[in-house]
Amino acid sequence: MTPDFIRDALRQVKYPGFSRDIVSFGLVKDVTCTPGQTTVKIEIQTRDPKIPEEIFRACHAALDNLPDVGSVKIDIDVKDAPAAASGTGKSSIPGVKRIIAVASCKGGVGKSTVAANLAIALAATGAKVGLCDCDLYGPSVAQMFGTRERPNANEQDEIIPIEAHGLKLMSMGFLLEDSSPVIVRGPMATRYTQQFLRQVAWENLDYLILDLPPGTGDIQLTIVQTVSVDGAVIVTTPQEVALIDARKAVAMFAKVNVPILGLIENMSWFECDAGKRYHLFGDGGGVREAATMRVPLLGQIPIDVETRQRGDSGAPVALVDPSLSKVSAAFHHTATTLRAKLPV
Ligand code: ADP
Repeated sequence: MTPDFIRDALRQVKYPGFSRDIVSFGLVKDVTCTPGQTTVKIEIQTRDPKIPEEIFRACHAALDNLPDVGSVKIDIDVKDAPAAASGTGKSSIPGVKRIIAVASCKGGVGKSTVAANLAIALAATGAKVGLCDCDLYGPSVAQMFGTRERPNANEQDEIIPIEAHGLKLMSMGFLLEDSSPVIVRGPMATRYTQQFLRQVAWENLDYLILDLPPGTGDIQLTIVQTVSVDGAVIVTTPQEVALIDARKAVAMFAKVNVPILGLIENMSWFECDAGKRYHLFGDGGGVREAATMRVPLLGQIPIDVETRQRGDSGAPVALVDPSLSKVSAAFHHTATTLRAKLPV
């Protein structure tokens, strides 16, 4: 038996609630094989005692029946995750009071559109807001805010976020040449994510919105291990395929004790000039799902041409006077609801 063989076998052990396995996420610190004994040392950061228990059981299930493995010893060193910030108005990023994750498990439901407009609408309530585009593989904040400015560093070697429409912004899109492909995987993705959270001079923010990539992978796991997230907003469309993934996102945050602030249903309906509503992706899916999952429905955002056009051209729809755009009004209403749930 060799340590490499054991590591390979441990790749089937996923971090509970996430798609990432414990080996590729770097949680397996050491493996030793001596005749008659295999010892695995694992290090994890969590405040939930159920996580090490589940990993312990899954490791034994993966290893115990291997030939020549001997007796299996799984040592798990549990370190405290970043302290829960709820109620204190202080997050684990200096100068940031609240961290809100905007997530969906499915791509294309409008998560980035919702994150950007929500950030703008939150700022309109008088809050100081930052938006961190954690989608390293498909960054969209640069496009949505119409800027490709390159960030500079300050004297402490921190990245100074780009400012646009009154928000502080950070995105991989600011660091890349125009269309260069984003090839960041595994440890690189972890390092960039940590840098975006820890080495950006966010400073003096009431809310930092994290626009997460779709899925339950390494970036999501890195985030909850790096900072304490005050709450998560899940974006879905009313369609069953999107709702299934919304459930996965809710389950993922539940595993790491991040409170779900609520669901936002995007592309809820299309309203024609005559005022008739067409439910293109089904009617009431988000309302039913929120009730089933016992989480609040924070808002319903119609599908609308101006919303798409403004997102593409760098001036999101929430910048429009809410009395002139129903979609802008929906975002401002949602932001007010969110702010009331998570005051600073
Ligand atoms: P995701 O982040 O979930 O992948 P995006 O925010 O990039 O999704 O949105 C995908 C596409 O749908 C974009 O072209 C965006 O402009 C468009 N879109 C999102 N929400 C709406 C909406 N409510 N009305 C019209 N278009 C929308």
